[in-house]
Amino acid sequence: MHLIKRYIAWLWLITLLLLHSQSSLAAAALPVDEIAPGIYLHQGLDAFPDSRNRDEIANIGFVVGDRSVAVIDSGGNPQQGAALKAAVHQVTDKPIRYVVNTHVHPDHILGNQAFKEAGVVFVGHHKLAEAMAVRAPHYLATAQRDLGMALGADSVVPPTLTVTDKLDLDLGNRTLTLTAHRTAHTNNDLSIYDHKTRTLWLADLLFVEHVPTLDGSLLGWLAVLEQLAGQPAKLAIPGHGPVQHNWPQAVLPEKQYLLMLRDEIRALIKEGGSLEQALAQVGQSARGQWKLFDHYHKRNVSTAFAELEWE
Ligand SMILES: [Zn+2]
Repeated sequence: MHLIKRYIAWLWLITLLLLHSQSSLAAAALPVDEIAPGIYLHQGLDAFPDSRNRDEIANIGFVVGDRSVAVIDSGGNPQQGAALKAAVHQVTDKPIRYVVNTHVHPDHILGNQAFKEAGVVFVGHHKLAEAMAVRAPHYLATAQRDLGMALGADSVVPPTLTVTDKLDLDLGNRTLTLTAHRTAHTNNDLSIYDHKTRTLWLADLLFVEHVPTLDGSLLGWLAVLEQLAGQPAKLAIPGHGPVQHNWPQAVLPEKQYLLMLRDEIRALIKEGGSLEQALAQVGQSARGQWKLFDHYHKRNVSTAFAELEWE
């Protein structure tokens, strides 16, 4: 009898140890804030990607409907994606039906792998899959070299549902309208509008405090902002920086920055100025107004110069 009791006690101990090791293997939930009813956001770090932050720098999150959940951007690596997934499961037992990628940049897409399972639909701009295919080798090499992350090709998961103009996702008593834009921040930007809370998820079409980064078209971006300013949003979610409650005024600093690039580069080109002169002069007065200015500003000038040179 005594032996049987001891045996049962041992069994209990082993079971508890097994349960503990399993739970510590599962990803810890990513911290998220409910910024509006049913909308959860993790605000990324204002930092340049490196081996410490592992590109966990973008704002990512999810929207919960009565029937299902849409994740919006999956994070900078598969572990961050798994942590975001754990955050969803902590908040709701409704299934994740959609993973929406707002554009191709790695801090927004490299968590996709964590969500890959039956029933999950990956959604993106109709140009996203091609952009992923073109950029993936570079992104994976950079992740290995600069961030110390060995990622396989399977960490780049392309969309299975694409948006050409507009697309509604029904999450159950909650509709998200996805809009595919012309080339702006990149050539594959989506914005997402939640009708229920009048939340406009702009991702990298809106930068707050973090200097905007131009990887598409300066003139296109200005045109898209003009359109989006007409959206009756109460809440605006940028790709980097804090949530904004004053749309469309919230876009003004970014718009001023882009207009400054446009006007100063146009004036310089008109005078026969070179790219070198543009890199040295354009926009220097804005240095103190933006975080990470020295990391991205000259790249922005160079991209904008190449576009405006051929006007
Ligand atoms: Zn981006």
